[in-house]
Amino acid sequence: MVIQTVPRRPIGAAASLSIILDSPELQGLIDNLEALRSTGRRGYPIRSLIGACLVKSRYAIPTWSRTTALIADHAALQSALGSAPSVHACYRFARKLRQNSPALEACFTALAASLRAELPNYGQDIAIDASDIMPAYANGQRYLSKNGPLRERYSDPDASWGHRSAISTRAAGSFYGHKLQAAVCARTDLPVAWRVETARDHEASFAIPLLDAARQRGFAPQTCVMDLGYDTDAIHAGVEERGCRPIIPLKQTATVKRGDHRPPTCEHGTWVFAGADLKRKRTKWRCPHAAPASKGQLRFACSPASVWIKASRLHPLIPRQTKRWGDLYRGRGAVERCFGRLKHEYALTPLRTRGLERVRLHADLTILATLAQALARVRTIPLAA
Ligand SMILES: [Zn+2]
Repeated sequence: MVIQTVPRRPIGAAASLSIILDSPELQGLIDNLEALRSTGRRGYPIRSLIGACLVKSRYAIPTWSRTTALIADHAALQSALGSAPSVHACYRFARKLRQNSPALEACFTALAASLRAELPNYGQDIAIDASDIMPAYANGQRYLSKNGPLRERYSDPDASWGHRSAISTRAAGSFYGHKLQAAVCARTDLPVAWRVETARDHEASFAIPLLDAARQRGFAPQTCVMDLGYDTDAIHAGVEERGCRPIIPLKQTATVKRGDHRPPTCEHGTWVFAGADLKRKRTKWRCPHAAPASKGQLRFACSPASVWIKASRLHPLIPRQTKRWGDLYRGRGAVERCFGRLKHEYALTPLRTRGLERVRLHADLTILATLAQALARVRTIPLAA
């Protein structure tokens, strides 16, 4: 049976679920996991268990018990999945997935390649950020009660206190839990690479690992936009080494206060950007005073009329003064939009699981559902020419 269209709503339509489960990318994951199941009792088919993971995310259900209850009551879902797995089967399967992260990673690589084939811009310009917060499913207060004894056991030992920054109308504040660190495609808002880390860890340390994870999945990002918190020499150099242009606003460091980031000047004014040499990693700047001379040539009043400046945090290859930099910088909103969708449509939060390993799998499965859904959508609904 060929289903021609996938309705955008409801997002959990059972028909699109079986299209996703039958896609070669998900079939690859099913085969990989089936091959690991050499011994032991014959349980539910892997396809049904992966199907249950997709149902959980796509119907935005926080727990396995409610997910399995929905499947048990829902004939269309059961026929798409082939069976109705039990709660315990889902827990056992989640453990199996945690122990076999390479199988899941191979599926993400396959999904990325197929999505790039459909959406050639996917992953070309990326935005990296610690995309908001995942409060722990645990109490992080140090005291059991006011003036009471110290808490001795924390139910999520990997959660920690972190700080969130203010975004638009939302106030800044501290929270207890985890953070999703993500590289998101600035054009499609689809996630490219991500990792869950405890809230206290600083996001800047994950920028280069995320870029490497993206490249591992076959992406070749050309530009990478980040916020002020990532403005370090090491990140600029690391991004450039990977053939990618950093788009990061300037932090007020001592060198910036001294004015080292400013273009050269002369009696005619501030020199203007005149192109970049990506191979030699230098930008060219020239005197603004130029009069037309013979044969379309320009005559410059200054000598030398231009200089090359070595690329650095102070002088990136896409200079901060250019329109291109501004256009790319606006792409940083992609992380926030992507996280909003994961949270509100796919139940990334509230967390109902504890410990970094389990929270990581939860994020992986949530993102698996969004990427598989995006692929099914672009395959069944061809993009307008
Ligand atoms: Zn001049």
